[in-house]
Amino acid sequence: MGSRWHDAMRLALDEARSAGLRGDVPIGAVVLAPDGALLAAAGNERELLGDPTAHAEVVALRRAAERWGQWRLEDCTLVVTLEPCTMCAGAVVSARIGHLVFGAFDEKAGAVASLFDVVRDPRLNHRPRVTGGVLEADCAGLLEGFFRARRD
Ligand SMILES: [Zn+2]
Repeated sequence: MGSRWHDAMRLALDEARSAGLRGDVPIGAVVLAPDGALLAAAGNERELLGDPTAHAEVVALRRAAERWGQWRLEDCTLVVTLEPCTMCAGAVVSARIGHLVFGAFDEKAGAVASLFDVVRDPRLNHRPRVTGGVLEADCAGLLEGFFRARRD
């Protein structure tokens, strides 16, 4: 299950690695158009921009909306290396993303499975499909390596 997302997740992993190389926590995201074409790719830019909201998902959604020509990203897919936090889960709902795909689970801050399930709350008027655990070991390993290197 989920193997059709491996190529997109590998692109997200490339973005995550680039973010890590410049000192941001290595998280990456891509947005695919309904036909599967790449609309946007971004890494976490929190340190780069000094912006607390510049998580990979938010940066990718902004770029995708610009490219797509509207904020409504219906039937588009967001692929991200780490389970989104509450802010990004909210942004996914706000953008009307059709399908959310993530790699590693985030037991400390995850808001689509681990701590909360913001995107599938029946009280909200939009609920994307969710696929978790795609290339999970690669996504988690990248983060573990980054934090291990920081401690040493
Ligand atoms: Zn986030």
